[in-house]
Amino acid sequence: MLFTDLKIIKPILDALQKEGYEKPTPIQQKAIPSILEKKDLLGTAQTGTGKTAAFAIPILQNLSERPKTNQIKALILTPTRELAIQIEESFNAYGRNLPLRKLVIFGGVKQGSQEAALRKGVDILVATPGRLLDFIAQGIISLKNLEIFVLDEADRMLDMGFVHDVKRIIKLLPQRRQTLFFSATMPPEIQKLASSILNNPVQVEV
Ligand code: AMP
Repeated sequence: MLFTDLKIIKPILDALQKEGYEKPTPIQQKAIPSILEKKDLLGTAQTGTGKTAAFAIPILQNLSERPKTNQIKALILTPTRELAIQIEESFNAYGRNLPLRKLVIFGGVKQGSQEAALRKGVDILVATPGRLLDFIAQGIISLKNLEIFVLDEADRMLDMGFVHDVKRIIKLLPQRRQTLFFSATMPPEIQKLASSILNNPVQVEV
């Protein structure tokens, strides 16, 4: 199978070629078609499987077909600064030929430059939970126009003690949205969280 078989648009195909990607990995083959159809997804997948591209490619494609509003339309929540930076770099790479704005925010640094970038308008936001909640509390971020929510590494999120923050964030999201939920493992607590936020999800395991 090739990326063209997945009906990926030319600007993204060109970017993938530039990355040297020849064909989709198993999780990409399974997840991309359902995400393009705007279905919810429950993915059991480790880092290293190509999971980031599995959600980044269809998110970029779906948002590229929408009118530009400069409001946050996709939120990717991830537990660590390192993961957040990697995810944003992936969106930048695959989305290099599309006019969508991406931004990564995380704690442990002054908020000034992140705030300035937010004020310019962002389509795709990658965030760690604490810093996101700080910006929401200050009225700098609104998620009312959110269309797509990705919870990445859900099990690590819980291990790191972010469960309360994650639940607070989820309560602030519009009910009508697409939700993509990824975890390396699916213990009962994670399954419970998944079933409480997903709507008839397609399940993908790699
Ligand atoms: P991830 O599981 O998202 O952390 O991705 C693991 C690594 O695989 C990253 O370095 C990606 O750049 C790379 N990668 C993702 N998809 C593909 C693909 N279809 N072909 C080749 N490399 C890929």
